[in-house]
Amino acid sequence: MTTHDIAVIPGDGIGLEVTPAALEVARAAGRRHGFELRLTEFDWSCERYLREGTMMPADGLERLRGFDAVFLGAVGFPGVPDHVSLWGLLIPIRRAFQQYVNLRPVRLFDGIEAPVRATDIDFVVVRENTEGEYSEIGGRMNRGFPDEMAVQEAVFTRKGVTRVLDYAFGLAGRRGGYLTSATKSNGIVHTLPFWDELVKERAAEHPGVRWDQEHIDALCAKLVLDPSRFDVIVGSNLFGDILSDLAAAVTGSIGIAPSANLNPEREFPSMFEPVHGSAPDIAGRGVANPIGAIWSAAMMLDHLGHAEAAEQIVAAIATVLAKGDVRTRDLGGTAGTDEFTQAVLALLV
Ligand code: ATP
Ligand code: MG
Repeated sequence: MTTHDIAVIPGDGIGLEVTPAALEVARAAGRRHGFELRLTEFDWSCERYLREGTMMPADGLERLRGFDAVFLGAVGFPGVPDHVSLWGLLIPIRRAFQQYVNLRPVRLFDGIEAPVRATDIDFVVVRENTEGEYSEIGGRMNRGFPDEMAVQEAVFTRKGVTRVLDYAFGLAGRRGGYLTSATKSNGIVHTLPFWDELVKERAAEHPGVRWDQEHIDALCAKLVLDPSRFDVIVGSNLFGDILSDLAAAVTGSIGIAPSANLNPEREFPSMFEPVHGSAPDIAGRGVANPIGAIWSAAMMLDHLGHAEAAEQIVAAIATVLAKGDVRTRDLGGTAGTDEFTQAVLALLV
């Protein structure tokens, strides 16, 4: 039997509740499809930060390196600034392991009331995950004086942009054959014109994919007004971040949205995590929607070579939602995390 070694970081808040749910579903799929997940849990979290001063130990990245994949619940804690969990855990993992593709599928399931009128929403946001606007280059000057200023440099490299575009064009080729590039080259005069040039260059290498580009402001409007027209949307680190949260909201609840941080070359482990945060307002009550985490686990199985198992998990989620009697509160139901998880598991035996 194939065994995959998975590093599990449940994190904080509802991460501790949705992670076991997702892995239980993934293991059930494994029993059905003849593979096993060997789980090693790490307590790296904001709670650890408050106790010991760091999110993870100094050799944390080294310890993760040998795993086949990393599954992360959510990190965040009231009173701990977001930059601590971001720069203390998430960003180091994404960068050290060259997880340059952040993949966020967006789908409107039957039975979910979306805040938009469209019905057939099914697209993927590909976000550049290692460079771009989220750079440490820049600084603050003249604090407290009339000439106070802040400067932040965005970094777009030919290598970094090309590799994420190639992934996105490849994905579009395997899906509906249509790619949309998010840009703002009418206002940003150096980085995004470079991005646009590289899009044209890569498009020439992928002649089977139809493509267009939209300025980020117009694209946001279209995602609300006409989300059905999209297939694959590719954007820089910042644009991809904004688009994927917007898209999650358009399809019903942030609790549904999954994500994968991929190292497509498989030189290092990839990391899978729901899009939502630790949700301290509902943590510890067993009411969190586990769909984002379960779907992320399905993406992990897909990455590990079990496409059929992954599809069955997503189909089971769709079936439970379409039936409508078991749904969590964020979707207008009364079910808890466990009840929803059991309903999915019942379809996987
Ligand atoms: P963090 O600081 O970790 O990002 P946050 O306060 O930003 O946490 P999010 O997790 O991003 O919280 O959630 C924003 C809102 O969405 C909260 O009201 C939260 O309760 C709700 N929410 C998020 N995830 C879920 C989920 N899985 N099920 C139900 N509600 C959720
Ligand atoms: Mg948040």
